[in-house]
Amino acid sequence: KELLKVENLHVSVDDTEILKGIDLKVNAGEVHVIMGSNGSGKSTLMNAIMANPIYDVTEGKIYFEGEDITDLTTDKRAKAGIFMSFQSPDAISGVRLGDFLKQAKEEVTGKKPSILGFNKELKKEMEELKLSEEYAYRYVNVGFSGGERKKSEILQLKILNPKLAMLDETDSGLDVDAVRIVSEGIKNYLSEDNAVIVVTHHNELLANIDVDYVHVLKDGKIKYTSDASLMEKIEKEGYEWV
Ligand code: ADP
Ligand code: MG
Ligand code: MG
Repeated sequence: KELLKVENLHVSVDDTEILKGIDLKVNAGEVHVIMGSNGSGKSTLMNAIMANPIYDVTEGKIYFEGEDITDLTTDKRAKAGIFMSFQSPDAISGVRLGDFLKQAKEEVTGKKPSILGFNKELKKEMEELKLSEEYAYRYVNVGFSGGERKKSEILQLKILNPKLAMLDETDSGLDVDAVRIVSEGIKNYLSEDNAVIVVTHHNELLANIDVDYVHVLKDGKIKYTSDASLMEKIEKEGYEWV
């Protein structure tokens, strides 16, 4: 079943064209990896799919579950089941992580989660991510270490349970143990009904996950698509050969 289809996508930032015709199709049950050197447009692609207003789609179409979402705002796309985790998650002072997640869940599902059920789910997911329970009462990401911020992104992913998750370098700045925990979180999230697009430079994040496609971005286009072996090649040889 097709979740995402991106057709001839052109994206500009401040009138500079960054993406110059991206085609990408993601079906339920698939894991896609986007690679490419710094500044090649990986975050731009994810932001454009999430309708971040800084990124202008100047040409092309984005479909989700067969529906044209090119003109939908971010909140509508989130409600449709698209999620993005940021490369540098922001701190939100004054909003507790637990409340934030409950609010986000209510907004995405359109109904109030039962407090008991929600708290139970939150506790379970936090345990799995080895995030101490007290973090639910802390302000979102305020004073969190890099690793804790990434874990709170994965916590959001697990609580919201989107159909399509886009994870932008969720492993950057993490120590080996944290990478494993985040990787495990992604693995537990995955099912035949959802899909994930991961931006990463490292094999390790996906070591125990079946990767279906690896795409390499260059000059605003997907220059190369292959299977998981491409990740190893890039980790060994870099991007020079692309
Ligand atoms: P990647 O994630 O692959 O490292 P990005 O998508 O972040 O690359 O950036 C691609 C290009 O677009 C870079 O040249 C970057 O400077 C530019 N760019 C991306 N986002 C912005 C922004 N918000 N403002 C200005 N330039 C941006
Ligand atoms: Mg699969
Ligand atoms: Mg980036």
